[in-house]
Amino acid sequence: MEKQLRVLFLCTGNSSRSQMAEGLLRQKYGDRFEALSAGSRPAGFVHPLAIAAMSEIGADLSAQHSKSVQEFLPPEGTPPDVLIALCASAARECPSFPAGVRRLDWPLDDPGHVTGTPEECLDAFRRTREQLRAAIEGHFRGNNGNGKAGPQPQGTRVELRDVAKSHHLGATEVRALRGVTAEIPAGSFTFIVGPSGSGKSSLLYLIGALDEPSSGEILVGGRRLNGFTTQERDRYRREEVGFVFQSFNLLANLTAVENVLVPFMPRGISHDLRARAIQLLKDVGLSNRLDHRPNQLSGGEQQRVAIARAILKRPKLVLADEPTGELDSATGAEVFGHLRRLHEDLQTTVVVVTHDQRYLTDSDNVLRLQDGKLADGI
Ligand code: ADP
Ligand code: MG
Repeated sequence: MEKQLRVLFLCTGNSSRSQMAEGLLRQKYGDRFEALSAGSRPAGFVHPLAIAAMSEIGADLSAQHSKSVQEFLPPEGTPPDVLIALCASAARECPSFPAGVRRLDWPLDDPGHVTGTPEECLDAFRRTREQLRAAIEGHFRGNNGNGKAGPQPQGTRVELRDVAKSHHLGATEVRALRGVTAEIPAGSFTFIVGPSGSGKSSLLYLIGALDEPSSGEILVGGRRLNGFTTQERDRYRREEVGFVFQSFNLLANLTAVENVLVPFMPRGISHDLRARAIQLLKDVGLSNRLDHRPNQLSGGEQQRVAIARAILKRPKLVLADEPTGELDSATGAEVFGHLRRLHEDLQTTVVVVTHDQRYLTDSDNVLRLQDGKLADGI
């Protein structure tokens, strides 16, 4: 395995900026980079508002104590590969690093200096978090952090090992899948195609852990779905997978905005998240439908709500079952446009069941099913 680049975030004084940056890099790209932070005068604790702002996006900073910059300087310490200074005075106050360390400056105001109501103070930390998030995603996405280009898939790899699924209807057994072995590469746009009844939806349900295989194994990002506890399955479905299913769609008594936010409700909805949900609905052309309920929306509009919901999660895997099945071709093309953008922006693995082959391109990955098996060479 390639050595992970060590990225050190640095700021002077109160080190909450570098601690938040460390948490963000670890959460988003922790598989590619070793995230570190330090201060010139480390407080030895984490700012409670930094913990609060980061917990809103599911990152736990409570145990992330700031270190002294001395720990990363020779002769005692090991320097990082990349140094990112988050305040203007870091250059002045911090000792110099060896010449081989790549240096970036992202000066940001200290959110700890904002005074006002508790909510205003927390908002300052949220703003800093979003500034850092944009900077980190802009810099490290599709980049090895050292300035060299090299797209890195962020999506999840899915492995299917001899997967079989039988449905039981009274005394009748329907063998929907009869031993499927295949790989869905990380970051691929994969189509599952095949005649009606060939097992496409059954396979997608299994990958989404909405159903369990009768035999065989499914590995997602190297983890066996069969081995998940109930809580792990719930978390996986709620947080890791974006579902765009026609029949598994929206909650009838919730508005469009609320439906987009549903996966986050167990954790609480911040102002920020609600604002992003509204922005996403606007992006998919639903600015005039924010407070509509599903029965007040057309099929295409409902599908776009489901896509906004999937995008808000920033999932590593999106599963879409016949996403254009009941749409006219213009709306269908638009829905595919959103899925393509999600795939390109976040390198999400996207798996689409469709019998509409118009949307396939040469670079897509295709699994063809026939009678519950892979139809090779067709
Ligand atoms: P596709 O999506 O390719 O049309 P499905 O995966 O929906 O195929 O179905 C594969 C086979 O399994 C079909 O014969 C279907 O009737 C059957 N099937 C699917 N779901 C169930 C179920 N819940 N109960 C019984 N049979 C089912
Ligand atoms: Mg189907």
